[in-house]
Amino acid sequence: MKKTYLLALSLGLSVSSFAQRTLIHCGTLIDGVSNSPKSQMTIIVEKNRITDVQSGYTAAQASDKVVDMKTKTVTPGWIDMHVHIESETSKDQYLKRMSYNMADVAYEAQKHANTTLMAGFTTVRDLGGTGVNISIRNAINKGLVVGPRIFTSGKTIATTGGHGDPTNGINSKYTVPDDVTDGVVNSPEEGRQAVRQRYKDGADAIKITATGGVLSVAKNGKGPQFTENEIEAIVSTAKDYGFTVAAHAHGAEGMKRAIRAGVTTIEHGTFMDDEAIELFKKHGTYYVPTIIAGKTVGDSVKVPGYYHPLVVPKAIETSKQIAATFAKAYKAGVKVAFGTDAGVFPHGYNAKEFQYMVEGGMPMMEAIKSATIVNAGILGMKDDLGSIEKGKLADIVAVDGDPLQDAKAMMNVVLVMKEGKIYKQK
Ligand SMILES: [Zn+2]
Repeated sequence: MKKTYLLALSLGLSVSSFAQRTLIHCGTLIDGVSNSPKSQMTIIVEKNRITDVQSGYTAAQASDKVVDMKTKTVTPGWIDMHVHIESETSKDQYLKRMSYNMADVAYEAQKHANTTLMAGFTTVRDLGGTGVNISIRNAINKGLVVGPRIFTSGKTIATTGGHGDPTNGINSKYTVPDDVTDGVVNSPEEGRQAVRQRYKDGADAIKITATGGVLSVAKNGKGPQFTENEIEAIVSTAKDYGFTVAAHAHGAEGMKRAIRAGVTTIEHGTFMDDEAIELFKKHGTYYVPTIIAGKTVGDSVKVPGYYHPLVVPKAIETSKQIAATFAKAYKAGVKVAFGTDAGVFPHGYNAKEFQYMVEGGMPMMEAIKSATIVNAGILGMKDDLGSIEKGKLADIVAVDGDPLQDAKAMMNVVLVMKEGKIYKQK
C-alpha cells in the first residue's frame, strides 16, 4: 500500500484513483450471457463496477480483498419483476389494510426489503402499494435502509370495484381520504391523468389491473376491467414519460385487450387461451408467470378463514391452473420474464420460482437468464445490470451447490453483492 501511495504521488495522481479491488474466485460462473457455465473464473470489482472477468484464479495483490467462492456457483444478481415490498400475506391481512398507518407500512416494508436482498434479489420491480414503495426506494438509494434496487409503480391504476380499487369491501359509511382512491379511473382521460400523477409522485413504471384478481374482496377474478381505449390512453401517455406498463391479467379477454393496447408485461396470465398466446408472440409481450404466488394461495386457502369468503373460490381455481399455463406458454414460445408476486407469499422465498419454472419445462440456464439479462432489458438497464461482464454494476450472487443439476440450490444463497458492496457472505 505504501509503495502504491508513493508511486501515486510521484505520478501526480490522487490516492483515491487506486481503489481497493475485490477479487471473487468463482468455482462455477454463470454470467447471464453465455449458455454454458465456466469453471474457475475471477471477477474483479472496483468501487461499484465489474472491471474485468478473467479465466483462472487471479493472484491477489497485497491491497486486494479476496472472496473465496471456489466451491460455489456465481451468477449475476437476480431481478424479480413483480413484488409488493410493502405487504406480506397473513391471516389478518384485511384487518391490517384498515388499521395500518403509512408509518406502520413503512417499517414492515423495510423488513421485507432486507429479506429480499438477502435472498439474492438485488433488483425488484414493485407493482403496487400505497406510495411507501416510492419512499423506500429513495431510502435504499440514499443508504438509509438495506434492500434491493427498486423500480416502483407507486399505486396501481384500476377501475371502480376493480382488482386494484383499495376501498373494495369497506363499509360505505366510512369515508376515505381522496388520496386513497387516487388511481381509480373510469375513462381514457382519467387514465392519462393517473399516469401523469405517477410521474409527479416519482414512480418508475405503470401498473394496471386489466382483469379481476384473486385476493381482492370482489366476486370476479377473471373478467376484463378496462376498455381497450382506456388501456391505449394509459400506454400512450406512459410512453411520453418513458414508462413501461405492466398489466395484471388472469382472464383471456382483458389480457388480449392489454396486449393489443401495447403493454410491456402481462402479470400472472393464468387463463390465457391459444389466441392470447399468439398475441403475446405477435406483439413481443413478456409474460411474468408468478407460479409461486398461485401455489401459495392454493395452500393458504386450505386454512379455514385465511381468506375472505369471496376470495376462496377464486383462489382454488387460479391455484389449480397457474403451473399448467406456464408449461403451455413456455412451450409455445412466449417470452418469459421472471417474477413472483412476493408479498402474496412470504418475502425471501422468491427463488422457489426457479424450481417451478424448471418443473414447467424451462431449463435452469434459461430461467436464470430470465431473472437477469432479460429483466434488465425490460427495465431499460441492460448497460448496467443483468450479466457479469466488464463495465456492469457489480450485482453478484453466489449459491451453494449446482443449480443446473438441482434447482433447490437457488435457495442456498451464500453471497450477495450489490453495486460492489457485500451485504451477505457465508
Ligand atoms: Zn401482484
